[in-house]
Amino acid sequence: MPGGKKARASREAPQVVIVGGGVMGCAAAHELGRRGLAVTVLERSVPGAEASSAAAGILGAQVESHNPGPLTELGLRSLELYPALVKELERASGVSVGYRRSGVLKVAYGAPALSQLARESAWQARAGLPLAKLTRRALREREPALSPELAGGLWFERDATLDPRSLLVALRVAAARAGAEFRSGSFVKRVAERGGRAIGVELDDGSVVRGTHVVLAAGSWTSLVARPDSAAPRVVPARGQIVELKTNVPLLSSVVFGPDCYVVPRADGRLLVGSTLEFVGFRREVTAGAVAKLLAAAIRLVPALNEAELSASWSSVRPYTQDELPLLGPSATPGLLWMSGHYRNGILLAPISAKIVADCVQGRKPPLALGPFSPDRRATGSA
Ligand SMILES: Cc1cc2nc3c(=O)[nH]c(=O)nc-3n(C[C@H](O)[C@H](O)[C@H](O)COP(=O)(O)OP(=O)(O)OC[C@H]3O[C@@H](n4cnc5c(N)ncnc54)[C@H](O)[C@@H]3O)c2cc1C
Repeated sequence: MPGGKKARASREAPQVVIVGGGVMGCAAAHELGRRGLAVTVLERSVPGAEASSAAAGILGAQVESHNPGPLTELGLRSLELYPALVKELERASGVSVGYRRSGVLKVAYGAPALSQLARESAWQARAGLPLAKLTRRALREREPALSPELAGGLWFERDATLDPRSLLVALRVAAARAGAEFRSGSFVKRVAERGGRAIGVELDDGSVVRGTHVVLAAGSWTSLVARPDSAAPRVVPARGQIVELKTNVPLLSSVVFGPDCYVVPRADGRLLVGSTLEFVGFRREVTAGAVAKLLAAAIRLVPALNEAELSASWSSVRPYTQDELPLLGPSATPGLLWMSGHYRNGILLAPISAKIVADCVQGRKPPLALGPFSPDRRATGSA
C-alpha cells in the first residue's frame, strides 16, 4: 500500500478509548480487541477494583426479571452468550471463571407467599421460558439443607453463576492478548471534544488521550466525568453489602433467593450471602445492622449455616439509574458512547453490552433495538 494511503487508512481506523476498567470496560476491550480494533482502557485504580469484583456472580436472567420487556430481552440474550464466551476466555487466559449452570431457586415461607411468587412469574411460563413450581418435598429433595419451614419455590433451571473476580482477571488477560492496552492509575476528568465531536479524553494531569470513539464505562462514577451531553439520565451509587461464609462441605448446589437474602454457593464450600440495597452515596462501610439481618435471614433459610465460619464481608456500589435501565450505545455527541447504569445485573449483562458497543463503533446494526437504553432518553428525575 502506498505510504499516503496507508497513513490515511490508519487515521480513519477506530481508536477506542474506554473510561473505566470494570466488567463493562474489560468486556468491551475484549470484544473490540478480538475484532481487531485499537483500544485503550483508562482506569483510575486497577481493573476490577470496584463493583465488578464485589458482585455475587448470579447470572439471573429469569429470576431477576419481573415483567417482559427490553431489559428482560437484554438479560436473556446475554445469558445465551456466556457458554461460548467462557470457553473463549478460559482458552485465551488460562483462568477458570467458575461458570456453572447451577439454576436458581426462589423460595417462600407459607402457601400464600408461594402462590404470590407463582402469580408474579406466570408471564415467564406464558413466554415459553423454563420454570417449574416445586412443592415443599420437591424443594427439599433438590436442596436437603434448606429449611423445612419453606412451603416450596420456583426453579429457574437456565440461570447460572460464576466467580466475578476470576471473570475480571480472565477478561483483562484475554483483552490484553487480543491487543487492548490497559493504563491503570489514569483518572479521566472530561471528554475532550472538537466541533461537537468527542475526540478523546482529558486526564487529571491535563494530558489528552485521543480516540475516534470514547466509551463511558465508569460505573457509579460515570455521571461525574465532565462531558458535552450533560442532560443524560444520572447514574448514582446504590450500595450493596455481602457476607461470605465457609463450611467444610458445600451445603447447596444452586443459588437460592429467599425473601430477605440470597445465598450463592461456590464449589469450594464458600457461600455468599447478599445483599442490601442502600442509597447512601459513595459510602462503603459494612454495617453491623446489615450483617446481622443478612445472617439471620441466611440461617433461617439454611439452618446449618449457624455453624459456618464467617470468613469475609465487603460492600460496593451498583450503578443505578432512575428507570433501572442501562445507558447503552451512542449519545447525541458523535463519537461518544455509553456503557453504564447496569445496576443489579452488570455481570449478567456484560457480554451483550460489549457486542452492542463494538457493533456501534463499527457502524453495524446492534443485535437488538437500543431505543429504551438510549443515553438521550429523558431523565425521569433524580434518585
Ligand atoms: C453487592 C453487589 C452484588 C452484585 N451482584 C451481582 C450479581 O450477582 N450479578 C450481576 O450480574 N451483577 C451484580 N452486581 C452488579 C454488578 O456488580 C454491576 O452492575 C457491575 O459490576 C457494573 O460494572 P461497571 O463496569 O459498570 O462498574 P465498576 O465495576 O464499578 O467499574 C467502573 C470502573 O470505572 C473506574 N472509574 C470510575 N471513574 C473513573 C474515572 N474518572 N477515570 C478512570 N476510571 C474511572 C472505577 O475505578 C471502576 O474500576 C452486584 C453489585 C453489588 C454491589
